[in-house]
Order: sequence, then structure tokens, then C-alpha cells
Amino acid sequence: LLAADGTVAPTIFAEMSAAAARTGAINLGQGFPDEDGPPEVLEAARAAIAHGANQYPPGRGVRDLLQAISEHQRRFYGLDVDPGTEVIVTAGATEALTATLLALIDGPDDEVVVFEPYYDSYAAAVALTGAHLRTVPLRAPDFQPDLDQLAATVNDRTRIILVNDPHNPTGAVFGHDVLTAVVRLAARHDAVIVTDEVYEHLSFEAPHTPIATLPGAAERTLTISSAGKTFSVTGWKIGWVHGPAALITAVLTVKQYLTYVNGSPFQPAVATGLRLSDSTFADASSALAHKHGILGDGLRAAGFTVHTPQGGYFTVADATALGGRDAAAFCRALPERVGVVAIPLTAFVSEPHRQEYAGLVRFAACKRVDVLEEAASRLADFT
Ligand code: PMP
Ligand code: GLN
Repeated sequence: LLAADGTVAPTIFAEMSAAAARTGAINLGQGFPDEDGPPEVLEAARAAIAHGANQYPPGRGVRDLLQAISEHQRRFYGLDVDPGTEVIVTAGATEALTATLLALIDGPDDEVVVFEPYYDSYAAAVALTGAHLRTVPLRAPDFQPDLDQLAATVNDRTRIILVNDPHNPTGAVFGHDVLTAVVRLAARHDAVIVTDEVYEHLSFEAPHTPIATLPGAAERTLTISSAGKTFSVTGWKIGWVHGPAALITAVLTVKQYLTYVNGSPFQPAVATGLRLSDSTFADASSALAHKHGILGDGLRAAGFTVHTPQGGYFTVADATALGGRDAAAFCRALPERVGVVAIPLTAFVSEPHRQEYAGLVRFAACKRVDVLEEAASRLADFT
């Protein structure tokens, strides 16, 4: 993880956000919203600070938030989560994921199966555990995995099948056949399913299906989510993981030595968010789908081939027709040339597979409509 000169290599997100700051370009790279989320949620954090929620909270998380997560899982998905034993709060989905991997991996003989491209922290976290990363490719245009390839990759050494649905960076929402295959293979090889559902409320075509709701899944699934995306508070870093009590105890054992506890005033505020009306969640999803529409139209007008996302913050576009056969070089030049920052998909792919994704670029749609319109008009000048 070190750069060639021995310094810490910045993540692609930090590098591209720095490029945006340096050049004044519109940042469609790193996925963070440029508008605040629900005012009730922000106000609840202010109120919590005013009322003294400023010291270490309990290690599992603030009781009210654990309760609210349990209510949320029941209300949206019909899942039963015991707030006392089956859920813990973490420093975002990132810590939930890292603590889970560290807790469940025994050593270098264990394998973690993941779809590729994958969110960048996955490979880094697996590397921390010493396990072997096995990947199954997701290919354009629909970015669904080949089920035979999935079956051929999962085996008795597979400790974890790691799923991210809706998917960053591709925008895929996995079909019922894919989710069912994951559950069947996990059961056959006695693997744990770890599912990152941070975009659960940003599924545009159909309501999100947590993999834990499938028959036979709950007993071997750890479900991870986070307040960042749902309430547009990515800087709060409040996430959670729920699943069978024995697995959660293992994750808590690691988590307590990673961060110990997490931001006390943010936790009651996230509890407030999780109890907001159904329409608040639905409206946020439609607003984002509309933004993807504006971004997609702009990209198409500029000459990109657009892979319309089914969920999440990002639209993937093929830049080959614009001379972007090497999207990494294309993205490095984009801020200076047109004043827009985006991320090459190769940032989410392991070295041996980079060539297969070399023409693809990821654009974040979680920005104000006027910002996306300006970005679209700048991109139109590209040709
Ligand atoms: N998983 C995915 C798929 C993500 O896109 C992100 C970041 N946006 C995270 C995890 C990290 O979430 P958090 O900021 O809650 O740690
Ligand atoms: N998850 C966001 C993205 O994919 C932000 C990631 C980060 O800054 N680590 O862009």
C-alpha cells in the first residue's frame, strides 16, 4: 500500500479530489453529495451535542440507534434483528467491513470471493487479513456475474462471499438469480455472506432486496450499511453490521480495538433518520435517479456510451469513442481539458484485469442539478 518512494499512496478518491481542488474542476470523482440531507437529521445531531451526548457511547452503539436499525430492518424488509445481540454500530461501512474480515478470516488458506470491479477498500482490507482474494468479473453492459464462473470460484476454502448491492462502481443491482446462487454456494461450502448494502435506499427500478431475506441466508449473512449515503452525511461515518449473534460478537471483538466506539451525537441523529417517513426515502431515490438522467444525457451528447445504473451514486460510461481507450490517462487529463473530474474504472480492478476495463469511466451523480448541467455542458466541449 506504499507508493514507490515510500510515502503513503493516496487513494484514487483523495488524488482526484485534490486534482479538482487544484484545477477548480467539477468533482464527479469522489462519491459525496454537495447538498445536505434531511434537516431533521442535522437538527438531531445539534440537539444531541447541546444535550451532552459528547462522551464515549457504549461500544455496541447507542441503544436508541441499535433499536432504530432493528425497526428499520423490520419495516423495510421484514427482517428480525435483536438490537441487544445482533447488531453493532461502526465507523461507517468501512470499519464494519474491515472488522468483519479481520474477525472471520483465520489465515492465508482462507479465500474471499468478490465481484470485480470492487470498491477499493475491499482488496486492501482482505490484504490486511492475509486471505486470498478470488474475483468474479462483472462485464458491461449489464455488469451481472456469470453464474458458472461464480460456482467455479467458490470452493471449500471460501470463508466469505462478499457482495455489494447496489454496486459501486458499476451501478448494477444483482438479479434474484445471482443472489440465490450466492446463498446456495455459501451454504454448500459453509461460507459466510458479507453484504455491503450502503446504497440500499438508492435502487431505482425495484425496491432493494437484502440478501439476508432469501431462504437460508440470514443464518450465515452479515449485512452492512451506513448512514452516509442514505442521509447525505458521508462525513459522519456512522455505519452498522447485523447478523447472527455469534458472528456479531466476533466482529465486536475486533471493532473494539479498531475504533472502540463511534461519534456519540451522530448516533441518535441517525436513529432519527432511520425513522423518517417512507416518502423521505423514496424521494431521495427519485431525486438521484433524475440526476443520473441529466448526467447520462450529458455524457451521451458528448459522445460517451452510457451504462445506465440501476442503483447507487455512479454512472459508468465508455470513453473509447472519445479517444479514451486508456481511461486512466483520459481521467488524469480531464480536469485540465474540460474542468471535470471522474474516476477510471481501472481504480476498482486488480492489475491482471485492468485492460478489460480500460475504456470505462465512473461519474458521480450525487451532485446538485445545476452542477451536473454545468458538467454536462463542459463535457460537450470535449469533442
Ligand atoms: N461501501 C461502498 C460500496 C461504498 O461506496 C462506500 C463509500 N461510499 C463505502 C462502503 C464506505 O462507506 P462509509 O463511508 O460508510 O465507510
Ligand atoms: N465511496 C465513495 C466513492 O466510491 C467515497 C470513497 C472514499 O472517499 N473513500 O467514491
